[in-house]
Amino acid sequence: MLSPGRKMSDVRYEAPKTLAAAVGLLASANGQARVLAGGTDLLLQMRAGRVEPGLLIDIKNIPELTSIVAENGGFRFGAAVTCMELVEHEAFAKAWPGVIDAVKLIGSIQVKGRATVGGNVCNASPAADSVPALIAARALVGILGPDGKREAPVEDVVTGPGVISLARGEVVTSFLLPRRPPNSGDAYLRFTPRTEMDIAVVGAGINLTLDDAGVCSRARVSLGAVAERALLVPEAAAALVGTRLDVAALERLAIAASAACRPIDDKRGTREFRIKVAGVMARRAAEIALARARGNG
Ligand SMILES: Cc1cc2nc3c(=O)[nH]c(=O)nc-3n(C[C@H](O)[C@H](O)[C@H](O)COP(=O)(O)OP(=O)(O)OC[C@H]3O[C@@H](n4cnc5c(N)ncnc54)[C@H](O)[C@@H]3O)c2cc1C
Repeated sequence: MLSPGRKMSDVRYEAPKTLAAAVGLLASANGQARVLAGGTDLLLQMRAGRVEPGLLIDIKNIPELTSIVAENGGFRFGAAVTCMELVEHEAFAKAWPGVIDAVKLIGSIQVKGRATVGGNVCNASPAADSVPALIAARALVGILGPDGKREAPVEDVVTGPGVISLARGEVVTSFLLPRRPPNSGDAYLRFTPRTEMDIAVVGAGINLTLDDAGVCSRARVSLGAVAERALLVPEAAAALVGTRLDVAALERLAIAASAACRPIDDKRGTREFRIKVAGVMARRAAEIALARARGNG
């Protein structure tokens, strides 16, 4: 429901063809302007009267925002690339299977055909599936605003429930997944009461690299839905580095992951349950990432 007396036709809709025009519209908007990507969060929030933008700026017609390109041995994809386009991009999916694990979980096929990773990040739900996978992947967010371009790690962009660190007039333009060494693997797992179309009660993203002797030389661990925003957990990563991910190392990972959680209690899971499951999800995700790093994923 829009608020009383308000109609959808009261909302101005613009679909600029260039990034400069989008930033200009955002920066000069009187009242609340919102970027519209897939609309799978925003339109529902408008319908529920939770947000009431005066201006919607649809970014799907901006060519720079719709491509997936190789860059310096990594990949850059635009903020208007849909989840389905990412899933179907063979080279990207081969390079970043853990990010794809997460993106595949976002809604149904129909939702993925509209939804973007940019919208998932900017909506800033603590349970957003792509966010822990991107943080584990060391993804950098490309941002453009009235003062020019900048880049920021995903963990610095999502700062609280529904809150991002973008300044007025700024728009997310892309995500860079930087090159990673050979013998690397990543994985994302979430726990939900249902197998599909549910919100994560806990999510765990792991990205790790093995040296030539099969010892873990670097790792990143990120947890979702266990705090006000997705967490980067260096203590959990430290439990893996220097090990072959033997049983003891995986146990230390699980303990460190559980210790980092500061979840809420709600009808979908108690605090205690979430804390326990975070350790289990982290361990299982690490096992999948390990198999992928060994080329068996
Ligand atoms: C049935 C259903 C199931 C779902 N299941 C899941 C799920 O399993 N996991 C999950 O994580 N999510 C899920 N979602 C939520 C939603 O689909 C995702 O969060 C999706 O990725 C949002 O992307 P979007 O492009 O539709 O964003 P939009 O709705 O267009 O935008 C979301 C927010 O981000 C802002 N925004 C978008 N792009 C930019 C940009 N480039 N720069 C600045 N701000 C921007 C918008 O202004 C808005 O505030 C589900 C939604 C539905 C309807």
